Amino acid sequence: MSSHASPIVRRKSRQIMVGNVPVGGDAPITVQTMTNTKTTDVVATLEQIRRIERVGADIVRVSVPTMEAAEAFRLIKAETRIPVVADIHFDYRIALKVAEYGADCLRINPGNIGNEQRVRAVVDCARDLNIPIRIGVNGGSLERDIQEKYGEPTPEALVESALRHVDYLDKLDFQNFKVSVKASDVFLAVGAYRLLAQQIEQPLHLGITEAGGFRAGAVKSSIGLGMLLADGIGDTLRISLAADPVEEVKVGFDILKSLRIRSRGINFIACPSCSRQEFDVIGTVNELEQRLEDIITPMDVSIIGCVVNGPGEALVSDLGLAGAANKSALYEAGQRVDRLDNKALVPILEQRIRARAAMLDPGNRIEVDEH
Ligand code: SF4
Repeated sequence: MSSHASPIVRRKSRQIMVGNVPVGGDAPITVQTMTNTKTTDVVATLEQIRRIERVGADIVRVSVPTMEAAEAFRLIKAETRIPVVADIHFDYRIALKVAEYGADCLRINPGNIGNEQRVRAVVDCARDLNIPIRIGVNGGSLERDIQEKYGEPTPEALVESALRHVDYLDKLDFQNFKVSVKASDVFLAVGAYRLLAQQIEQPLHLGITEAGGFRAGAVKSSIGLGMLLADGIGDTLRISLAADPVEEVKVGFDILKSLRIRSRGINFIACPSCSRQEFDVIGTVNELEQRLEDIITPMDVSIIGCVVNGPGEALVSDLGLAGAANKSALYEAGQRVDRLDNKALVPILEQRIRARAAMLDPGNRIEVDEH
């Protein structure tokens, strides 16, 4: 309710369709992740995809390293609701196979497939089946001649590599693609995306690759992607963490939420707490976050430990709690509506937040793209 519109002016890109999800143009910036189970373990992979879908991922990517994995991909694709991207390296036959099995996008670098005939076979197949391709350049695996030319990975080197792959597709008059130029260094990745954004019109898939463990990786990704998104660059993103893919999706949405680009679920405004707190702020917020993960409706909920900031935040939140002795004040849409016993806040707050969400969005389906 306190939302100001995002001041970001987005780069105009040509829209592509990954399955039924638009990427680029004026489509909401999508959040994706990648499974980290063995693709051949269909049961485990599908179980992970279910969890990924539940936290709102728009797209999921699955690695397909072998023909056996391609057979598993067929089963996985058939049981997955969101679009599935097949991640393939080098072997063009796998690309043809997963395309036949319904892949919604092929992540494959045309320059790495081998001779022209093979590239043409994959591109023709993608064209016939209307499947986009993602060119994925990575600072850690640049072509040898580009490495030698630049001495070390630089933004220019990443972009040269990307444009080389783009050229393959251009020559075959294939425009249905998106590109990523990921690096584990924030400045390298940001520099590369900024350069590339000026040179092609296709959508950009953002990511800081191998960003690290959960906390450091989330911080690094937020800084890198934050710089780009604030510039209006980026149409879809994946946060790479050495952590559960579910966490990648949550961090992705939190980044978009912080920049007011896309709101999904509850935006908790909470004070850090101090000795003035009248109830356990941290415990209350953590518990509520967990209990309310299924709420998609965007809303601001402020949980503030005392009267110093409590009433002020509550006035501009959809629902706000301002700590007071014994009983804290509950505000709804800026009005004080109740006083809640500090000893049993969580169940009542959960109930009130759910009721408010149901009132704002009866189907719990609305997300807001604030562009
Ligand atoms: S709002 Fe109150 S409890 Fe929270 S940090 Fe500030 S002074 Fe402390």
